Amino acid sequence: MSGAVLQKDRSMLLQKEMLAAHYQRLAEAPETGEKVVYTFVPGNLTELIRAFGALPVLPEINALQSGMRGKSAGYIAEAERAGHSEDVCSYVKCDLGMARSGNIGPTGTRLPKPDLLLLSYTGCYTFMKWFELLREEYGCETVFLHIPYQGDGRIEPDHRAYVTKQVKEKVIPALERITGRTYDEDLLKENLRRSRETEDDLVKVLQSAKQKPSPIDAFFGAVFYVGPIFSAFRGTPEGAAYYRSLREEIEERAAAGLGPDTPSGTLTDQRYRLVVEGTPNWTHFRDFWKMFSDEGAVAVASTYSKVGGTYDFGFRHDPDDPLGTMADYCGGCYTNLNLPSRADMLAAYVREYQADGFLVHSVKSCNSFSAGQLALLREVEKKTGLPGAFIESDLVDPRYFSAANVKNRLESYFQMLEARRRVHGSSALNEAAP
Ligand code: SF4
Repeated sequence: MSGAVLQKDRSMLLQKEMLAAHYQRLAEAPETGEKVVYTFVPGNLTELIRAFGALPVLPEINALQSGMRGKSAGYIAEAERAGHSEDVCSYVKCDLGMARSGNIGPTGTRLPKPDLLLLSYTGCYTFMKWFELLREEYGCETVFLHIPYQGDGRIEPDHRAYVTKQVKEKVIPALERITGRTYDEDLLKENLRRSRETEDDLVKVLQSAKQKPSPIDAFFGAVFYVGPIFSAFRGTPEGAAYYRSLREEIEERAAAGLGPDTPSGTLTDQRYRLVVEGTPNWTHFRDFWKMFSDEGAVAVASTYSKVGGTYDFGFRHDPDDPLGTMADYCGGCYTNLNLPSRADMLAAYVREYQADGFLVHSVKSCNSFSAGQLALLREVEKKTGLPGAFIESDLVDPRYFSAANVKNRLESYFQMLEARRRVHGSSALNEAAP
């Protein structure tokens, strides 16, 4: 067994232990009295929640885990029986179905009821409806943190002031009420300092994909890398330890010239470097990944790995400006960016990561991601001179994953890239871009 493999085992093990311990604490919360805050991934205020000693629960993470464990079809059917339409986002139905089926979380323990529903509104209307339903179910306190959309492609000073004011006047008092603790800015700063270190480590991991061969898969593999920072662990000591370990592991892998571990084995012979826009499909995650890895395709950058923060474009939490930095963080999440900014981001990835192509995975459920994706595809094609691919399925509703269809489209796309390579040489992009 190589050193790199041992390193990989270490970070995977750490993540597993962290998750198990977290869900165990959640299961025991009704007895221990620890307070529980349900919140969403984009724009989450984990450092603040943790500074009050409360435990975050991320419903989207539970839904995607249910998808990966083959449980989402049953949960969705349960929600549809209760009257939720087929058109509703499958994360929502999966979560509601799970709640109606005993609320058993990803590690097999029961999830506690929320003491607070903290909705950071980063552009998804469904988030609001989702928490309205949970509020009806649990009757607990709810806070709505409104994040202005980056309509003009930047966070304006009054956006920042508006969000900061809400955090100060709405979110902090609610956390004080439910936990019985007083706001402690020093604790928050300590968490933010750790977040900053963690974000540095994550960026090094993601940017390692600039190397050839890439030591990571920045779409499928990155799902595991971003899990802790997007969920309950940003700013925690165990989160910081995990990212240190992960960075070291990837550095060793890169130094050894190894590719990522994939369902087709270690992918060192990489024929196609791709940039991917959109979310993964969770019900067929491994099969979907294998369709890429079997063809020697590796994702070198993705937008999904930025839904919980666009750190690779420079943002870091700033412990010296605790409330302002949280406002900037919320405003900068990928789903809060307008289409021109998203197109610029994708085109920059194609260039900086020397991609051979790019692909949009559009999911039926998610308007936040899918709205405008065809226009985005055309725009990135114009900016890079590369043809893109467009495939469709869903997040956690297995009825919308057609393996044959997806495979056909991918194979045609790889054939097209191969043909371009024959015409333009090995670096199709550099020769073809305008
Ligand atoms: S529509 Fe998209 S962003 Fe909104 S809840 Fe569903 S998956 Fe999340």
